[in-house]
Amino acid sequence: MEMKCPYCDAIGGLVATHRHMLDTHLDLVTTARDDASGKMEYALACPFCELDYRREVKPRNRNPRFLEEFKAEIALVAFDQLLYHMLQEHPSEVGVDPAELREIRE
Ligand SMILES: [Zn+2]
Ligand SMILES: [Zn+2]
Repeated sequence: MEMKCPYCDAIGGLVATHRHMLDTHLDLVTTARDDASGKMEYALACPFCELDYRREVKPRNRNPRFLEEFKAEIALVAFDQLLYHMLQEHPSEVGVDPAELREIRE
């Protein structure tokens, strides 16, 4: 299965697109830290609908540089969720035939 990157015209398989998004669109994943509560979260917006993924990040330790050091790991999870959302909600926008998706699931 080939698909188009949701953010540009790059074409590739699911794994290649995921890799491409990490390599090229890492800055689209934003992270924030609330100084008062110490809570951290990441956000990634869907380019096709109003959906804005926000998830709390729970680091195993109190490393104040956690968000910078683990940006790639955080983005990996965020893009994974976004790709799943693309295939569920926007297959035609990323050049995927929904019939092809059914074949993969079966
Ligand atoms: Zn791209
Ligand atoms: Zn969407």
